[in-house]
Amino acid sequence: MSKTLCGVDIGGTKCSIALVDEKGQILDKIYSCDHVDKNEEGRIKMVAENIKEILRRNDLQESDLPGIGMGCAGHIRFRDGVILTTSNLKGFKNYPLREAVQSHFKIPVILDNDANAQAFGEYKFGAGQGFDDMVFLTISTGIGAGIIINKKLYRGMTGTAGEFGHMIVEPDSELTCTCGNRGCLMACACGMALPYLFEQKLKEGKKSRLNLPPDFNMSRMSGQVLKQGLDMDDPVSKEVISDCGYYVGLGIYNIFQALNPPLIVLGGGLTNWGESYLNKIKSTFYELARDMIFDPIEITVSNIAADAGVIGAAALTLE
Ligand SMILES: [Zn+2]
Repeated sequence: MSKTLCGVDIGGTKCSIALVDEKGQILDKIYSCDHVDKNEEGRIKMVAENIKEILRRNDLQESDLPGIGMGCAGHIRFRDGVILTTSNLKGFKNYPLREAVQSHFKIPVILDNDANAQAFGEYKFGAGQGFDDMVFLTISTGIGAGIIINKKLYRGMTGTAGEFGHMIVEPDSELTCTCGNRGCLMACACGMALPYLFEQKLKEGKKSRLNLPPDFNMSRMSGQVLKQGLDMDDPVSKEVISDCGYYVGLGIYNIFQALNPPLIVLGGGLTNWGESYLNKIKSTFYELARDMIFDPIEITVSNIAADAGVIGAAALTLE
């Protein structure tokens, strides 16, 4: 009989619970955004109830699952299943999330960082299939990553290995990261950097062809708006996207020197910028790595992008 997997993805805006088959296809899913305003206990209760509900409506018992895999944004001490810090949700500081969910179930509950979960999902079901080692980088509002070494997630001593978003790529940058440091990759090259980057170009006197209303709130400058700009050949949007690509390419170069992986998979919303963005990432990387590449390295875009979080969380139960 084929195995059904269960994954939970607790994000800053939505909480998804899904049943996934052995090929990584979603069988059923429950979504909600209510968890944001709940306290910790309320969130745990909601997650446990939704897992029970999705099992019930699919005629499954808890014992039909190998376990429950959970992914959550933030620093997670893997061995204890504790969220140390998360900037995406209120509360959840030094919170024993795994134990709290585990108290509702008999099968094992696994908790990992959401990017680690996505990395493992990508390795199991996506572009990483057939590779023993890879690095996954997700680029959206923030930047997360996961490292697979010898078919397993490499978590480091605490569980926070692969926080490449906090790799410093521009020490003199004006951009301060959520961690407080200046010039983290995440501060320079993802969703949170876009308002600043766009505004800087305008201050330098560059003219945008995006017809932004005069009262446009620059903090709403997003990947989607820039994608529109890219599609209408707006020079400012194109430059911002190119700058972001440059920093990601620089980041990948550093990752390459540290780990020498055969595959780097990129996921997250900003990969929707498409070919010109990806080309900038690759050209920056290849320029820096030049003749230090002795075997082919593949840099590619995730092919399980939609629902990657919850699919990855489910995949954790196969690790
Ligand atoms: Zn940082």
